[in-house]
Amino acid sequence: SPAIVWFRRDLRLCDNLALLAAVRTGRPVVCIYIREPSDEFAGALGAAQACWLHHSLHALDQSLAQSGNRLLLRTGNPLATITELTTLTGAASVFWNRRYDADGVRTDTAVKAALTERGIEAKSFTGFLMHEPLRLLTGQNRRYQVYTPFWRAFEAQVRIQDDLLVPSSMAPPENLPGSESLTCWNLLPSNPNWARGFEVHWQPGEAGAQARLDAFAEDSIDRYRNGRDYPADMSTSRLSPHLAMGEISPHRVWNATSAVFNERTAEDVVQFRRQLVWREFSWHLLFHCPDMATANLNSRFDSFAWRGDSDNLSAWQRGMTGYPIVDAGMRELWQTGWMHNRVRMVAASFLIKHLLIDWRQGERWFRNTLLDADQANNAASWQWVAGSGADAAPFFRIFNPIKQGETFDPSGTYVKRYCPELAGLPDRYVHRPFDAPDAVLTDAGVVLGHNYPKPLVSHPFARQRALAAYRATAQ
Ligand code: FAD
Repeated sequence: SPAIVWFRRDLRLCDNLALLAAVRTGRPVVCIYIREPSDEFAGALGAAQACWLHHSLHALDQSLAQSGNRLLLRTGNPLATITELTTLTGAASVFWNRRYDADGVRTDTAVKAALTERGIEAKSFTGFLMHEPLRLLTGQNRRYQVYTPFWRAFEAQVRIQDDLLVPSSMAPPENLPGSESLTCWNLLPSNPNWARGFEVHWQPGEAGAQARLDAFAEDSIDRYRNGRDYPADMSTSRLSPHLAMGEISPHRVWNATSAVFNERTAEDVVQFRRQLVWREFSWHLLFHCPDMATANLNSRFDSFAWRGDSDNLSAWQRGMTGYPIVDAGMRELWQTGWMHNRVRMVAASFLIKHLLIDWRQGERWFRNTLLDADQANNAASWQWVAGSGADAAPFFRIFNPIKQGETFDPSGTYVKRYCPELAGLPDRYVHRPFDAPDAVLTDAGVVLGHNYPKPLVSHPFARQRALAAYRATAQ
């Protein structure tokens, strides 16, 4: 009687407690990934992340093949699918790593109850996060609402798990049931193949995740504190798509930073860990406020008069707002499936405050285009920028996209990378082409309104309009 491992957003063999539990039974191991038709973890699976999932599942199957095993792919309701598989294989145990979104929690509970009733061992583990949102609570047994106390409690109470190697043997049963074909899942775009550009930047799968972590720990963690806000710098880890798919455990990422911790890197390591723990905090919030991706955490925003402006939304999505730092970010997102955190904040703030478009529209666009789309991080970050979230930036703190560009991309390297039509502008105008004298624009070959857009709104006007809209909301 084999043991079943149900893979979800934990597409890795190292540091996988569910897999380890199955191997430790000493019985044959059946590995399955279930595609849930209507709701793939973070609501509808975004198009960019669907591509990533394809490659990640392929990589996992290849790794399993090295142990003579393989990944079974099934589409359907998890409870029905797992029940059928236990009958087919005669499995006596099913193991998986827990989910923390509302649908996931419901599914986990139902599967566990049904299997237990049939006398089948059903055990779930912590694999996606480092903390358990039900266990790490305030002194009053409540959820955390503010980051710093959460971080302190995390540091004091969460035990970081040692790295666990790939189990040495995971032989399948003799009669392994058939699998659906990954190709037939049609997760990749065909015509046009808008994802072609992704391949240059990313290597989905566990090996790619480990390589990325090694490179970060060796080459850039010591630049993290000072460099992480500069989008041209590439000094952040870029582990987010791997973490979103569970190709690497957050414990392993934490441990890698311990290995390079010394007097010189101490500040960088702490800054980095604080970011990694923001991910935990976002999931803590989502677990306790399951509709965070659709409902304002602060109900004051329920009466906010958003503008339903589809032309402006489309200009923002295409990177055609006339503000170079925003446009470079939106084009980076489209071309590479990722955007630098500082620019995400500026671009999100621009949509919400300069264009007065509901943050949920931005959340949806990011979910569909980000390779690291993460239900909790995305919703928490959008609400953070909007001012409607937990421990959020206040609404009235409105980013000036020109100043943000000049501060964090002083020579325009990042902007020129993604807006090549501005490459000929001198540094002082690269973030404000609309202020450049005609002769400068002509010299640089920039014709505003022709090869680069005029700004959708002026910054001072947009700022006043946003503040007035905020004041008009009910207190
Ligand atoms: P690093 O700086 O190297 O950080 C390491 C890891 O810590 C990241 O991989 C990520 O898992 C976590 N992390 C870092 N910053 C944050 C943060 N602010 N909140 C939560 N976790 C964080 N992150 C996502 O993973 N998925 C999203 O869908 C997402 N949407 C966002 C939307 C907006 C509007 C904003 C402002 C931020 C969003 N973020 C999201 C957070 C952050 O921008 C990314 O996690 C980060 O840019 C990923 O790059 P990195 O791996 O190089 O980060």
